[in-house]
Amino acid sequence: MSLRATISRKFLLQMALSREGRNSVLSHYHFFLKSQYWDKNRLREYQLSKLKIIIEHAYNSTAYYRELFDRNGIQPKAIQDFDDLQKIPILTRDVIFANQNNLISQAIDKSRIQTVMTGGTTGQQATICRDIESANLKMGSAYRFESFMGRKPSDKMAIFWPAHIDFMHKRSFKEMIKSRYILGDVAFYTGNYDVELFQKYFAELKDINPEFIKAFPSALNIFTDFLVDKHLRPMAIKGILTSGEVLNDIQRNRFENFYQCPVYNLYSSREAGNSASECAMHSGLHIAMETTIVEFAEGMSRVPEGKIGYILITDLTNFAMPLIRYRIDDSGAGLAESCTCGRNLDLMSPVVGRLTDDFYSPDGRRHSGNTLGYYITTNQDFPIGQIQIIQETLLDFKVRITDKPTPNKRILDFIKAQMHEIIGNEINIDIEIVKELPREKSGKLRFVKCNYKPGN
Ligand SMILES: [Zn+2]
Repeated sequence: MSLRATISRKFLLQMALSREGRNSVLSHYHFFLKSQYWDKNRLREYQLSKLKIIIEHAYNSTAYYRELFDRNGIQPKAIQDFDDLQKIPILTRDVIFANQNNLISQAIDKSRIQTVMTGGTTGQQATICRDIESANLKMGSAYRFESFMGRKPSDKMAIFWPAHIDFMHKRSFKEMIKSRYILGDVAFYTGNYDVELFQKYFAELKDINPEFIKAFPSALNIFTDFLVDKHLRPMAIKGILTSGEVLNDIQRNRFENFYQCPVYNLYSSREAGNSASECAMHSGLHIAMETTIVEFAEGMSRVPEGKIGYILITDLTNFAMPLIRYRIDDSGAGLAESCTCGRNLDLMSPVVGRLTDDFYSPDGRRHSGNTLGYYITTNQDFPIGQIQIIQETLLDFKVRITDKPTPNKRILDFIKAQMHEIIGNEINIDIEIVKELPREKSGKLRFVKCNYKPGN
């Protein structure tokens, strides 16, 4: 891009943000570019000061937290450090659903509140409220993460997304135009392989010439299948940021080889926005400590660094609906190492699995679906397509596996052997090879589904 075009894009972006009263986005972004290099103690202190403020605010202005704290004998002032935080019971999607109104702060101007739905893969979706300043901070944080791959906020980025709900509703034509030509993000819906549609996308991409890609791994994978099938040359891309689903090594290698650029794994959720991202060292994901506390827990207690636990998010920015220790239905581990890139933001492991359903072994024990994910998709040295495991009854399991690459006997035997070892030798495993895995309404792929209910 010419210097003149760069300057005018930057100017347009500033104008667009300013028109919406979102001037602060870029100042947050510039702040995060500096704070990420603060020393660890200063970052920790900053995080703790924000935590105390949000806890006080939650107690004083929401019926839910006042009742929760009082019932458990917790004084907001008693939460003085990160260990004290473990006294606060966790928040789940079901709790949000049941306490929708009681979680909303009475101290926030209602006209400054936006709503988003939780990213539920099954069951009830709950509404999350967020004040505009929180959204601005999250956008500044998103730009900071994108800077890890060299993107400046005004650089053009193509987005490959499978989720209908982001595109089908509430997105006016004007918003589309603004996003495409001013904010620099051009979104393509690639939930299903569609040759005609993808041909149009390809023409549009050549025209727009994006420098970066942001994508659900499965959505970019589908579009990449199309480019490969049609012998089309990929766009010249400087970096790919993936989020929304677990990125596996096969997808990462494929994207890096095909697009000839590094892939960065971002951890984000609909509820709390961008929480962590890989830098160019790829030695874990840096947590956005200025806006978020990420804990890895078993029940209410944190697990040691390096050990996998459920992810609990405390959003330090959301004063409209405080989310404190929200169990986000993902698992991961905190890492003790520091990164050689010089940023002192804490590191976490890649997310090992979306909270898939739990499943049951014949002896009645319940297991996390992530266990299967870990042993089947990461502990092997041959390529494997996308996979879904469904428990139909206590003894009957179905495995769906995609045909790219066509799974050979060795792969199928490996999957069966792993499942027998983890679940039990008595189970029956029916393997079905499919073109595509069925998606949930949210567009996500569910790795383990359990249709069996204990007691049936
Ligand atoms: Zn780093």
